[in-house]
Amino acid sequence: MRSSQFFLPTLRENPAEAEIVSHRLMLRAGMIRQASAGIYSWLPLGFKVLKKVEQIVREEQDRAGCQEVLMPTIQSADLWKESGRYDAYGKEMLRIKDRRDREMLYGPTNEEQITQIFRDSIKSYRYVPKMLYHIQWKFRDEVRPRFGVMRGREFLMKDAYSFDMDYEGAKRSYNKFFVAYLRTFARMGMHAIPMEAETGPIGGNLSHEFIVLADTGESQVYCDRKFLDYDVLGKDINYENPSEVEGVVKHFTSLYARTDEKHDQSAFEKEVADAGQRYVGRGIEVGHIFYFGTKYSEPLKAQVQDKDGNPLTVHMGSYGIGVSRMPAAIIEASHDENGIVWPESVAPFKVGLINIKVDDAAATRMCEDIYAKLRNANVEVLYDDRDERAGAKFAEMDLIGLPWQFVVGPRGAAKGLVEMKNRKTGEKVELSVDAALERLGA
Ligand code: ATP
Ligand code: MG
Repeated sequence: MRSSQFFLPTLRENPAEAEIVSHRLMLRAGMIRQASAGIYSWLPLGFKVLKKVEQIVREEQDRAGCQEVLMPTIQSADLWKESGRYDAYGKEMLRIKDRRDREMLYGPTNEEQITQIFRDSIKSYRYVPKMLYHIQWKFRDEVRPRFGVMRGREFLMKDAYSFDMDYEGAKRSYNKFFVAYLRTFARMGMHAIPMEAETGPIGGNLSHEFIVLADTGESQVYCDRKFLDYDVLGKDINYENPSEVEGVVKHFTSLYARTDEKHDQSAFEKEVADAGQRYVGRGIEVGHIFYFGTKYSEPLKAQVQDKDGNPLTVHMGSYGIGVSRMPAAIIEASHDENGIVWPESVAPFKVGLINIKVDDAAATRMCEDIYAKLRNANVEVLYDDRDERAGAKFAEMDLIGLPWQFVVGPRGAAKGLVEMKNRKTGEKVELSVDAALERLGA
């Protein structure tokens, strides 16, 4: 993509309404624009990141054996009356009437809808367990939408649902999501700490919130450093082997991890005896997994026949990831005073190519050559070919945070050299075009 053609409305000044760094940087880098309170448009740069996040989430759900569906955003109120949540949900739910005066709603979540689909389709234990997910916009009329896409009213969520014959089966499904979440956040370059969460009044429930570490995060986190040392991507976990999956979950759930509300300093010191192993920092909730038994399958009558032909109410769980919150969370975890520092896996482009003097024939020839070669090798590149000051180009490239920069100017071009900069470390090297391209796998 050429900067001269790209729609990238960056801002020089910090927008006054943005209280946290990710919100400021997303606005300044031209990633998002507010449409109304808690409702955002995603512009090309932001949308590219959102799609990469979504794709990583999708691949890890698929790998765990969860199947993608797409349910509508608009739901019928009748279903929510069946589950008993229509009145209970309160003002967070956006209620709508259609032209025939039928009560509809913009889905804040999809337990009812997926349970209806399951109950109308699956009647026998032979087709259980099942895990289904979708990635769809939600609407929750939050009391205080704030921090940009971090807490929006309209937001994109991956929500998955599991169906099993009993608690044991449900626990196996739960464990798969637990591991899939660890992998998902690790692939986005983050440490995610699973925290035991409140499960409400029904006993026997299981729930974990996944908190990614970021100095500017909303919650205080206390945990064992073993969480940070564990390399989940280096292990080839077989999801079809329940004890292998459980082994990973047990390792994590045996370690101390609490947010400020449930933190107990003396338990922390006892469980993590070595003070150097104690991690205290901040984090952001990005995912939530929940086993809730028959809470929805009971009222919605999602039953299957067991081996003996007896009706059995299925055990369910639900598993959310805040997909549109992720780009903001990643920025909170990865930025510096000059702007965003994207991990390669979610970067909108892998490299920014800067021509510092467009009226220099040699520099422009070299840039066009590099640009063509990168495109041929399918390396995503943003080529700043505009007639702008070099300083403004550098500042903008740092702001939007692409992992690599190639800088080409008259002096280097005369010698056949390009400067390659690592956005994260700031390290710069001068290389021949071929050597620079090779470093990016082109
Ligand atoms: P919270 O307590 O923060 O309101 P929640 O319990 O309502 O969260 P869930 O219903 O479990 O959240 O939703 C799953 C995930 O969706 C959350 O972990 C979070 O990442 C994301 N999420 C929830 N509410 C919002 C929102 N208003 N804006 C953006 N993402 C959200
Ligand atoms: Mg909420």
